Amino acid sequence: MAEFSGRLIRLYLATLHEVSQQEYAHILHQAGWDRFLAALPPDTDAPLLTEAESQQMDQVCYAMLGEDLYRLFTRNIGVKTAQALLASPWGAALRAQVAQAPPAARPRRALDALAQFYQAGGVQMLVGEDARAWYLTLPDCPTCTGLQGARAPLCATASVGVKMILDQTGGPRYRVDETACRAMGAPACVYTIPRP
Ligand SMILES: [Zn+2]
Repeated sequence: MAEFSGRLIRLYLATLHEVSQQEYAHILHQAGWDRFLAALPPDTDAPLLTEAESQQMDQVCYAMLGEDLYRLFTRNIGVKTAQALLASPWGAALRAQVAQAPPAARPRRALDALAQFYQAGGVQMLVGEDARAWYLTLPDCPTCTGLQGARAPLCATASVGVKMILDQTGGPRYRVDETACRAMGAPACVYTIPRP
């Protein structure tokens, strides 16, 4: 069972606060995350939050918003998360590192760095590629923990976030589609980036 780090939860709480504004304290309370109202978690890779606690947060937000607004919510979280990451020292190091790769290898380099960052925090992210596309697979996607019955892919957090990171490291030529989602019954959330 996955456990997520203080660093990732801290990042999530900052974006959730921006997106939910005056509802923030209410949402945290509903999800049983009251402990983070008193103090933000430490900015480290140490495991901090269980998958069951992540599930409570996803289910509270999904029940509050419904499918379509939840998808919009995950998109907004993705935008804020990518902005925060790209503005951080990690983002500066990523840009410098990816710029050293030949243009055709840049998306893979950026995806590998992103996967490494999230894996350090407890979110499994697998990177693959074939002649047609690159693939990012999240077997324990934290955006749809315990959610079922979605009519379309739900987890725009990664699709919009990865798109923004690729735009800044490889140029705006790449599209990111969520091509499988656990909330629709798939075993993992999968993002496909077709080769241009
Ligand atoms: Zn998902």
